Amino acid sequence: MKAIVLRRTAPIEDDPLSYEDIPVPEPKAREIFIEVSVCGVCRTELDEVEGRLQPKIPVVPGHQVVGRVAKIGQAAERFRIGERVGVAWIYSSCGECRFCRIGLENLCARFMGTGCDVDGGYAEYMVAHEDYAYKIPEVFSDAEAAPLLCAGAIGYRALKLTRIEDGDVIGLYGFGSSAHILFHVIRHLYPNSMIFVFTRRKGDAPSELARKMGADWVGETGETPPLKMNCAIDTTPTGLPVREALRNLEKGGRLVMNLIRKETPITDLDYTQHFWWEKEVKSVANITRRDVAEFLGIAARIPIKPEVVEFKLEEANKALSMLKYGKYCGSGVLRVR
Ligand SMILES: [Zn+2]
Ligand SMILES: [Zn+2]
Repeated sequence: MKAIVLRRTAPIEDDPLSYEDIPVPEPKAREIFIEVSVCGVCRTELDEVEGRLQPKIPVVPGHQVVGRVAKIGQAAERFRIGERVGVAWIYSSCGECRFCRIGLENLCARFMGTGCDVDGGYAEYMVAHEDYAYKIPEVFSDAEAAPLLCAGAIGYRALKLTRIEDGDVIGLYGFGSSAHILFHVIRHLYPNSMIFVFTRRKGDAPSELARKMGADWVGETGETPPLKMNCAIDTTPTGLPVREALRNLEKGGRLVMNLIRKETPITDLDYTQHFWWEKEVKSVANITRRDVAEFLGIAARIPIKPEVVEFKLEEANKALSMLKYGKYCGSGVLRVR
C-alpha cells in the first residue's frame, strides 16, 4: 500500500517524509481494518518529524483518521463492514493503572499515540482496536470530520480544563486549526462569553479569520485587551504567549496550555505580575476516548464545519511545512482516496 513514512527526524524543510510502498497491515482479534479516506494534519506531527517528540522509527504518522471498515478481526463486534469510523490520538491505554481507573487514561504510562508509538493514518490502510475507534456522525463529510478528531477534541478537553462558565471572558492565544474549531464550541456552549483572539501579527491570516468569525476583540500577542480574562487557552509553539496570557488574566483566572512542545522557552515570569491573585496554569496532555466521543456529539449538534484545506497524501511534507509557516488557515487534511 502507499504510505507516508518517517525514517529520520529532520527539519521539515529537508522533506524528511517519504512516499513509499509498504506491507498492508492485518487486523488482530479485536481490531478493525480501515480503508483510509482522509487524515488530518496536526502540529504534533511537525514535532515528531523535527524530533521534539520522539516517535518510533520508522513510523507512519497521522492521528486524525477517517475511513471505512473494510475487514474485521475474529473477535471484533462493535462495527460492521462499510461503516465510517474515526481514529484519534489515543491508540490505546492499559486500562488497569490508577489513571485509567479514574478516567484519566490520557495520563496512562502505557498510553500509545496513533501515528507516533504505532503506525497511523498517512496511508491507504490502517488497523485500530475497536474500542479506540469512533462512529462519525452523518452530518460531516470525511474531510470535515478529520480535524475534529484531534484539533477539535483536544481543544474541547482544554476548554473543559479552563472551567469556563457562561459570561466569562476567554482569551485564545493562537488561532489555528484547534482554536478556530473551539471558537464555534464556545459560542454554542457559552453564548454570553466574550472571545478575545491574539495572533502573531496584526492583519495576518489567522487574525483575519478571527475577525470574519466575529471575535469580540482581535489583537497581537503582547497587546493588552480591553478587559481582564477569566481564562485563556494557548495553542502556540512559542514562550511569549504564556507570559502574556498570565499578565492579562483576571484574579483567580486559569491558563490552559494546549500543545506538546514549545519551540522557544517561557521566560521572564514574575511572581507578582503573573501568578499572584491565585492565577493558575494547567497543561493538556493527550486525550481520553470520552473527550473524543463527547466532542463528536457536540460538534454534530452545532454543527461545526471546520475550514478545511486539502492536500494529496504525497504532499505531506508540503502540508506540514505550510503549517509550520502559517501559510494556510483552518485545518489541513491529506486526501488518501
Ligand atoms: Zn493532533
Ligand atoms: Zn493505564
